[in-house]
Amino acid sequence: MYDRDFDFAVMRATMVMAQLKERGIHDTAVLNAMNIVPRERFVTEPYKAYAYKDGPLPIPANQTISQPYIAALMISLLNLNPTDRVLEIGAGSGYAAAVISHIARHVYAVERHAALVDYARECLTALSYKNITLLHGDGTLGWPQFAPYDAIIVAAGGPAVPPALRDQLVIGGRLVMPVGHEQRKQRLVRLYRLGQDEFSEKDYGPVAFVPLIGAKGWPMREARKSEPRP
Ligand code: SAH
Repeated sequence: MYDRDFDFAVMRATMVMAQLKERGIHDTAVLNAMNIVPRERFVTEPYKAYAYKDGPLPIPANQTISQPYIAALMISLLNLNPTDRVLEIGAGSGYAAAVISHIARHVYAVERHAALVDYARECLTALSYKNITLLHGDGTLGWPQFAPYDAIIVAAGGPAVPPALRDQLVIGGRLVMPVGHEQRKQRLVRLYRLGQDEFSEKDYGPVAFVPLIGAKGWPMREARKSEPRP
């Protein structure tokens, strides 16, 4: 008998083993969450069969759902606790927010494309996620209403860490973001807020994310030039 959900569960467990564990992701909360969230439910029909491939996949509005390994690496670098409130900039499909929601208390996920906010909301509602709040707006300004956050994850690459995001971290909080002077080439950076004006910063290597577009990111017109034409 052909059971598609069973096939996806096998592919998901294989992905966790081959793409995450074998490459050094050891955080059991992250591995468990990645083994639960059905990535196939966050991609559109033509890509479902490739949901567990080792790379990013297209989602609406010319954006991408991150490679599973990169999502797991970024979430592990947040060192999440079950009581944490997390801000995500770049909700996209809602997949990473779903993974984080299994590990932390609440996820506030900001997305600049209204169409993607609707898309993520549909995906997350269909799976009955309750501890995720989707917000439509420019995440380079953070989301002051629910600040401060224990952790902030930015899923798009910007020229520098936006000041509002530093301000909206608790002392002791962690932020992970792709930072780079080129729009499609960045370094993965983790900030720790050590005090009111004190941060430590560490580089976790080269990454390639879609551009962070907004008041404290890349301007919209420049970003368009390097985005694929529809
Ligand atoms: N975490 C997503 C991947 C998103 S890709 C997932 O799991 O599917 C990055 C997303 O960042 C895109 O959807 C893009 O529209 C969004 N983005 C870019 N600049 C933004 C900004 N200033 N504020 C909020 N979202 C932004």
